[in-house]
Amino acid sequence: MREWRKSSGLWRWLLLACLLCPALAAAQVVELAPGLDSQPLSPHIQYWHDTGAADTPADAWQRVDTHMFAPLPDGNATFGFQRGAFWFHVRVVNHNPAETRWLLVQEYPLSDVVDVHVRYADGHVVHLAGGDHRPFSARSVRYRHPNFRIELPLGQPVDLLVRVESQSSMQVPLQLYTQKAFTEVSRDAQLAIGLYYGILLALFFYNLVLWLSLRDASYFWYLCHISAFGLVLFTLNGLGFEYLWPGSSWLADHSVPISICLALVAMLQFSRTFLELPRRWPRGNRLLLALMAFFILFAIASLWLPLRVSTPVASRAVLAGVIGIVIATIVVLRGGYAPARLLLLAWSMFLLGTAAFTLLAFGVLPKNFATEYGVQIGSALEMLLLSIALGHRYAALRNENQRIVHDANARLERKVAQRTQEVRSALVRLEEAHARLRDSSRRDGLTGLYNRTWFQEAFGRMAGQAHDSGRPLSLMMIDLDHFKAINDAHGHLAGDECLRWAARHIGRTLRVHDALLARFGGEEFVVALPGQALAAAIETAESVRIALTREPCLCDGVEIRITASIGVCQIDTGSIDAIDDALVCADRALYDAKANGRDRVCATNAGRSR
Ligand code: GH3
Ligand code: MG
Ligand code: MG
Repeated sequence: MREWRKSSGLWRWLLLACLLCPALAAAQVVELAPGLDSQPLSPHIQYWHDTGAADTPADAWQRVDTHMFAPLPDGNATFGFQRGAFWFHVRVVNHNPAETRWLLVQEYPLSDVVDVHVRYADGHVVHLAGGDHRPFSARSVRYRHPNFRIELPLGQPVDLLVRVESQSSMQVPLQLYTQKAFTEVSRDAQLAIGLYYGILLALFFYNLVLWLSLRDASYFWYLCHISAFGLVLFTLNGLGFEYLWPGSSWLADHSVPISICLALVAMLQFSRTFLELPRRWPRGNRLLLALMAFFILFAIASLWLPLRVSTPVASRAVLAGVIGIVIATIVVLRGGYAPARLLLLAWSMFLLGTAAFTLLAFGVLPKNFATEYGVQIGSALEMLLLSIALGHRYAALRNENQRIVHDANARLERKVAQRTQEVRSALVRLEEAHARLRDSSRRDGLTGLYNRTWFQEAFGRMAGQAHDSGRPLSLMMIDLDHFKAINDAHGHLAGDECLRWAARHIGRTLRVHDALLARFGGEEFVVALPGQALAAAIETAESVRIALTREPCLCDGVEIRITASIGVCQIDTGSIDAIDDALVCADRALYDAKANGRDRVCATNAGRSR
């Protein structure tokens, strides 16, 4: 009785559930019409979430047969990160006589364990295994997505039961393809992927060459970023498992969060260098450094953390990292750093693409070309723009450098001109000093008049000029009278003063005559009178004599009268010994003046005296 009540209650509930929820009715049958060559299964599939991952295939078949499976929410087999295993069921009837061998493709590469159970009308079941926790070589076709070759006999209903267990995001977009359709689709996809990595490789080598020649750190970090990011997508596309580590399920899983962290570290470091953040926005620099530290530590932690934790955290942190970079870029841009503009555009592209992909991974956005390849499209545009931004930045730096060099040159030129001016004036001063030195060597220290040596040189030149021009030239010898007596009476110092006084007066008197005056020695002076014949010379000598007698020399309040005897002669400029002859001749005239009572002028000419 109790049993009956219990079972009748159960039947009542099942009946109610069938009435209220058509989802729990029998699974839809997918009819593969003649000519059809591919069929997405998600709209027709039903699933069961085996949270403890404990069900055996027999359990699952029983649930299928008792209609326990539910349709996919929104017809979309994307559940995000989940515990346990998911079972999917669909019944397929092939009406295509030309195609009985089909390929079931799980179009998400990261699922760990995928088991396909195919149950035929006669009850026999075929089991196929795949996923990246099984060796790559186990796949029916060497392809980045797990795939299973299935026989679908004509007109027979075949049950497909797929079990997926994975630490990665639970995405199970199953699709049936004929061999031909799969070849075409995969060829197009490979071309798109090839194009993407082609762009990345071209950008990599282009910027590698630029880095090698420019040695700008930004280029280096750009290369790190592009490599790490290429690795992220290589992994996410399933190509990492196919080409890099086909035997390592550990790497197939862990390479995702680790490569994401590395890409972000390089991206943050690139941004810091490009934006010159330590100088332009120190606080932002500290923020980006903190983010870098987080990604480095998290990359290390990801070696041990379960994927269920590490992948979503790393994926979310990507958004945090990119937003941090975008903020830093905006701040630096507002500070007037123009190269940041292209950078902002680049990050925006990446942000859009990544956001689309991340939202797909969490089951928020549906799977379509833009969301599935959002990261590829966004990142290709981003890296292209970054490369252009690097070029712009280099041009800006070069212009700045040119301006600095130009300014430095202008400063240098000003300095050189200044130094040249200083050297020139020093040379002038040196020349003046040299002239003064030369002049002082020609002069007599006491009176400041030319000395005898210089006089004889200059007198020789004058005689030559006079001879050439035919003009007369006379010579005058002046000897102060009784000078010894002056010295004796007033002392040598007074005598010196008298000599200076006499030199001044003689010079002043001769100024108008263009004469050459020198101290001949002791208290004797000698004068050359160019252009003066004997008569004129006598007159000049007379004016000198009178000038000396006109007033006494005042020395320490004592008046000392000074007179001079002067001998004059005209030179015979035609004679070879004209100078010596003239000196002898003038000396003779001077002697005459002394002999005739002093304070007078005597002249000789051609042996004649007057
Ligand atoms: P005279 O009329 O015959 O020329 O007689 P004087 O005394 O002038 O001639 P003397 O040749 O006998 O003496 C020249 C003197 O001039 C002798 C010397 O003491 C003096 N004398 C020569 N050079 C200097 C000098 O530089 N300073 C002074 N204070 N005396 C000088
Ligand atoms: Mg004398
Ligand atoms: Mg004398």
